[in-house]
Amino acid sequence: MNARIAPAPSPLALARPELLELQPYEHAPWEPALERLHANELPWRSDVDTTVAGLNRYPEPQPRALVDALASLYGIGAAQVLVGRGSDEAIDLVTRAFCRAGTDQVIVCPPTFGMYAVAARIQGAGVLRVPLDPQRGFALDERAVLERSAQHVKLVYVCSPNNPTGNPLQESVLLRLADALTGRALLVVDEAYLEFSGAPSLAPHVASRPHLVVLRTLSKAHGLAGARCGALIAAPEVVALLRKIIPPYALTQHTIESVLRALEPDQIAAARRRVALIRAERDRLSAALSACARVMRVYPSAANFVLAEFHDATQALACARHAGLIVRDVRSQPALARHLRITVGTPEQNARLVAALQR
Ligand code: PMP
Repeated sequence: MNARIAPAPSPLALARPELLELQPYEHAPWEPALERLHANELPWRSDVDTTVAGLNRYPEPQPRALVDALASLYGIGAAQVLVGRGSDEAIDLVTRAFCRAGTDQVIVCPPTFGMYAVAARIQGAGVLRVPLDPQRGFALDERAVLERSAQHVKLVYVCSPNNPTGNPLQESVLLRLADALTGRALLVVDEAYLEFSGAPSLAPHVASRPHLVVLRTLSKAHGLAGARCGALIAAPEVVALLRKIIPPYALTQHTIESVLRALEPDQIAAARRRVALIRAERDRLSAALSACARVMRVYPSAANFVLAEFHDATQALACARHAGLIVRDVRSQPALARHLRITVGTPEQNARLVAALQR
């Protein structure tokens, strides 16, 4: 007899049951071949309108061309992509879709990006903290995450490379964790800074691991933080659920048109060249900071920022300000009592910062 392989449990078994039942808002049908008298728009364009499609029209929800371009950029299928207003919106949506207020919880691994915990709090979900291990280069404590992922933990957030520590998490650890969490919780891997690391994305593994969610953004390597655009990559059923709860016209027409242009091959190539420049500057900045007497320690970084520990971080902040520069105070985060996070800038900005710290 053939042994039957049990089907993988659906991640939707973890979603808020009332959302599975939800009848989503029915936006005006997207029928570009017809003239629109169905959405109460104005038929004329405003004088300030510089878009191709016209700002007098509502934009296409989940624009097909943009979803396809992102799927191709990240090497996945279009049904695995939800496009929204940056990773921030993806974090908000996944939290709202999976966490019942007053009952469910998320795990975060500090020091890390603050929005995971804030989104949980806004939703009324609990936040469990499983710190990264400062003695092992801020590595993930896989065993502790598993131990704490009890019945009501729905989401485990990790960030690789991690903000603000800059270290990448090991792919093998993340995949093992995703497997161990299957049927229990979703593993959300935030890859906002991945392009600066040179490491491969976990996105292709989503196809075989429906409990894995990957977040990508155009805010960092593509230089489009002001456009507000990012992709959540997940199993098609998770994407379909989130499409039910994202506002129908999440992306503005300005954003759709500029991001589509940014995803053309010449612009992707230009973005890669800028990433290479930032990586080279990051190494120069790290070396220069290491030589500053005020600096106790510079951490290796796989992102577009550098974490440094100072003898006197308050004084270092003041030196930077005096030189017209602001860096990020991360001292409220665990294990970072004397640390600042410095974004890699232009060669001139980096040199100005180093000179100010040497003074
Ligand atoms: N994730 C991480 C780790 C970040 O550092 C940031 C921005 N600082 C975000 C997500 C949010 O990015 P977005 O602009 O895509 O909303």
